[in-house]
Amino acid sequence: MRTVVIGGGLAGLSAAIQLAADGDEVLLVESRKSLGGCVRIRESREWVLDPGLHLLHRRGAFYQFLRKLRAPRVLGPKWRSDDFFTIGQTRDSGLSALTEMRPYSKLKPPREFVIPYGGWTGLVGRLVAAANQLGVVYEIESTVESINLQKGRVISVTVEGNTIECDYIVIAASPFDTVRLLENAGLNVSDLESCTPHMVAALDVAIEGKMMRPYSGLYEPISGIIAIDVSSEGRIPENRHSDECAIIHAVHLKKDGEEALEEIKNFLDSRCSGWRKLSTLRRSTASILLHPCELEQRVDGAQYIDNGIVLAGAHVISESVLSDAAIETGRAAAKLLKNHR
Ligand SMILES: Cc1cc2nc3c(=O)[nH]c(=O)nc-3n(C[C@H](O)[C@H](O)[C@H](O)COP(=O)(O)OP(=O)(O)OC[C@H]3O[C@@H](n4cnc5c(N)ncnc54)[C@H](O)[C@@H]3O)c2cc1C
Repeated sequence: MRTVVIGGGLAGLSAAIQLAADGDEVLLVESRKSLGGCVRIRESREWVLDPGLHLLHRRGAFYQFLRKLRAPRVLGPKWRSDDFFTIGQTRDSGLSALTEMRPYSKLKPPREFVIPYGGWTGLVGRLVAAANQLGVVYEIESTVESINLQKGRVISVTVEGNTIECDYIVIAASPFDTVRLLENAGLNVSDLESCTPHMVAALDVAIEGKMMRPYSGLYEPISGIIAIDVSSEGRIPENRHSDECAIIHAVHLKKDGEEALEEIKNFLDSRCSGWRKLSTLRRSTASILLHPCELEQRVDGAQYIDNGIVLAGAHVISESVLSDAAIETGRAAAKLLKNHR
């Protein structure tokens, strides 16, 4: 079967791997210059300073998938969740917020998180290597402009003006890009249209000092600011020790924009004083998509299966959240197609 996967983020890559492992001919189309989606690689002067928080749940879908792909070296050390401090509330309430990256999470928090050695670089690289081994073909910097149906069934996609025939499609793009493609194909998109994005501000700083000690992270429920130290071997320059420096990732879970970035900096001033003076690298992102929708807005990934289309991504119903949801729904999309044939 010829299957086109639209989107080269975590959901698209995991779908492509699973489809190719099940024997499909897979073409993955990604509109940006590189694979990885919203976790694009950002390294600077030997510090791995990716945007946003970088923890994996030890028992989550992503970690388990990487183990299956035999990638123990990219997984990294345990993050000290016992040293996470929630200001004015229980540690567990803060760990729930961290797990889901939402201020009012009710999730039971996992206790075990790991810091990937090479940040997202290593994780995405391992997925790409697995896809290569299985013969997945890519079209990078190419956008799927339309999905073409005949008698209600997918027959092809149009990529940069070229028609590519296919039997099935996995759409692993954001709900907004998905709406555009499905609407143009004449399909009902009312579920997807109700997805409201959750944008946040994030600040990433490499610091020549351990300002947050003795904590591994801090969460202030009132402001909604979360900051964690994710320094570890592989993420810091070789001549430094993780006891002497920090990589702090801080996210404002309630707001985005310049004002939110200022609030993050003020929070760090009050809790990690001296960080400004000792910071060697900083990256701030005023507005970044953290969640494509609220939990209750998630959509059924199988709703277009009779058209030969399935959906994947964190906006599709699953047991997981964040990167785990992207991986889980990507693999589930491939399995849905396999069972439907
Ligand atoms: C600040 C921040 C911090 C985070 N921290 C964590 C964390 O600590 N732990 C964790 O587990 N998760 C975290 N996440 C969440 C995690 O990164 C995302 O849930 C996950 O990467 C989403 O992957 P995806 O494949 O569903 O979507 P995306 O990464 O958005 O991928 C979709 C891809 O589709 C492509 N595309 C769209 N339309 C088309 C088209 N027509 N043709 C071709 N290509 C197209 C886009 O270019 C994009 O690359 C964080 C996210 C952010 C933003």
